[in-house]
Amino acid sequence: MRDYPALHLIIGGEKVGAVGRDTCAVVDPSTGETIGELPLANAADLDSALENAARGFRIWRATAPEKRARVLQDGANLLRERVETIAQMLTREQGKPLPEAKGEILYSANLLDFYAGECKRIYGRTLVRPAGQRAEVRMEPVGPVAAFAPWNFPALNVARKIGAPIAAGCSVIVKPSEETPATGAAVVQCMLDAGLPPEVCQVVFGVPDEVSRHLLGSPIIRKLSFTGSTTVGKHLLKLAAEDMKRTTMELGGHGPVLVFGDMDVDKVLDTMAPNAFRNAGQVCVSPTRFIVEENLFEPFRDGFITRARALKVGNGFDDGVQMGPMANPRGPDQIERMVADAVDHGAKLETGGERIGNQGYFYAPTVLSEVPTSAEIMNEEPFGPVAIINRYADEAAMIAEANRLPYGLAAYAWTNDAARRRRLIDEIEAGMVAINTGGVSAVDAPFGGVKWSGHGSEDGAEGVTACMVLKTVHEA
Ligand code: NAD
Repeated sequence: MRDYPALHLIIGGEKVGAVGRDTCAVVDPSTGETIGELPLANAADLDSALENAARGFRIWRATAPEKRARVLQDGANLLRERVETIAQMLTREQGKPLPEAKGEILYSANLLDFYAGECKRIYGRTLVRPAGQRAEVRMEPVGPVAAFAPWNFPALNVARKIGAPIAAGCSVIVKPSEETPATGAAVVQCMLDAGLPPEVCQVVFGVPDEVSRHLLGSPIIRKLSFTGSTTVGKHLLKLAAEDMKRTTMELGGHGPVLVFGDMDVDKVLDTMAPNAFRNAGQVCVSPTRFIVEENLFEPFRDGFITRARALKVGNGFDDGVQMGPMANPRGPDQIERMVADAVDHGAKLETGGERIGNQGYFYAPTVLSEVPTSAEIMNEEPFGPVAIINRYADEAAMIAEANRLPYGLAAYAWTNDAARRRRLIDEIEAGMVAINTGGVSAVDAPFGGVKWSGHGSEDGAEGVTACMVLKTVHEA
């Protein structure tokens, strides 16, 4: 059996273990075996984290940007040095193929590097006034941040949650998912080992609803940052509203992919079919609704089916595996229910549609076609290895389908027609649009959605400004 580390909270730099605390089991999604016991924070632990965060904010906001940048850079380099060890934990607790785990950790290090640079690019403005008077617009760190990160990218989600506040001069209490705790704690440990004052960044785990109510109920916390489902996001927004806390909300999506009849089918499929099954479809920007122009529908569907069947599914530690298990037992349960519902509504199940093996949470890469909009899967984010392929008559119908849902995170379009590209960019309601490419994430580009997919951005310069507030100063 592979090693899995002892689990702990990190409060004021101290590793807080299970003695005297409730615990929950951490499970390997490839086998269903328990691999660790996670201590859950009690009310006193959370109060202690809050007191530390208040102190940490006073320390860090007064720390020179160059020092903040150095800590972020050194933390990023430690992440690179420890990539092999942390990737093992990540694959063990989340299931994704080991090379993808390494890629995620290295991308997280690049993001921390980018934020290091941004520390030194926080500016204000001076307004024009008569001689002897001054008016200035200052940017100041918002204050201690409470951040909640999900299990689908256990390293990157935590790097996003802590990197921007640290760059801005805030303190942060982060709660990684209880289902993937070791990776998040290891990312934070890199920052602490790089010289981050221990009060500035802390890690708690617990019963999510108890932790969020406790932290958001405290006036010490001035900002909520959440990544997860729209349902939980709306609940947390209401808690934050009670104390008028700032918020960044990265919520669900249901990524439309518009494929126009002027495209080479294989070119689109070679990018988008692997994308649909990346991380077993548990990606907020997953391409899920393939909106294909009539004349390409059949070759596109057939090529997708061939590629889905060819994928190697298995334990993320095994060589050549392209898709691991789903991360928790809720995944295959939800997909099984949604696929059955789609078929009941008249959809064609082209391939997959079943669990694989008799242990762990594996579900086969699945393709559904001709799915009516009355099916649940056309309206709710599947968050699993399912692609929906439907045919449409023309551009207007395709744009209408793309914008039909209340979600607006990532959208993709493939066409060689330059004038149509401009129309699509204007018309599509999404926070991120990818044209003739499958990528919507880059460390220097704001990442976030519109409508029910949330508000505010992570990454890019906007990730840092989202952790700042304005103060206008008038001086005579
Ligand atoms: P969920 O909605 O209960 O949990 C989503 C995340 O929110 C988890 O990390 C969880 O720990 C956290 N959470 C839940 N309740 C919380 C609370 N009261 N306070 C603070 N944090 C809380 O359910 P789930 O089964 O983990 O995921 C369900 C759906 O959520 C998925 O199908 C997907 O649509 C969405 N999701 C989106 C992302 C994303 O990257 N945007 C990530 C994970 C899940």
